[in-house]
Amino acid sequence: MSNIDFPAQDIVQYRNKPDRYFHAAAVCRRGHEQTSTLAPADRYPSDEKCPTCGARVLVGCASCGIRIRGRFHIEPYMGDKHSLDKPWECPTFCDRCGAAHPWATREDRIFELENILDEEEIDEADRVFLHDQLSLNPWIQLGVIVGSDHGDFDLVRV
Ligand SMILES: [Zn+2]
Ligand SMILES: [Zn+2]
Repeated sequence: MSNIDFPAQDIVQYRNKPDRYFHAAAVCRRGHEQTSTLAPADRYPSDEKCPTCGARVLVGCASCGIRIRGRFHIEPYMGDKHSLDKPWECPTFCDRCGAAHPWATREDRIFELENILDEEEIDEADRVFLHDQLSLNPWIQLGVIVGSDHGDFDLVRV
């Protein structure tokens, strides 16, 4: 069976025709698409390198391991199974855990950080302060330590 970690509900959809589910994508660490139409029965080489840039090709989120979301598959459909799609856009974030994929830009990384902060139980004044810090200081990277005590935050420069 597949070496790609599809969400359970998509595997059920795949087995029950007619089916509607998201394919998996294979994308190199710099964001070059190799394919966006992998199915749960497919395997993908685990050691492939990108022919465009030489980077390793990924088929799962580096954080949680779930597949990188590919094109939406609709069946039955008269004609090309994927022609209802908008042009496929390589996802920037994992649709399960919200982690930024390796090809995310610095701005995307700030979104990721803000999303993490939004999940933390911090008071509104601290939240506003941290959001301001992130927008004012784009060099601050993901090394943020969110303290467990109120007001105890440390923004780490890397
Ligand atoms: Zn590449
Ligand atoms: Zn993930």
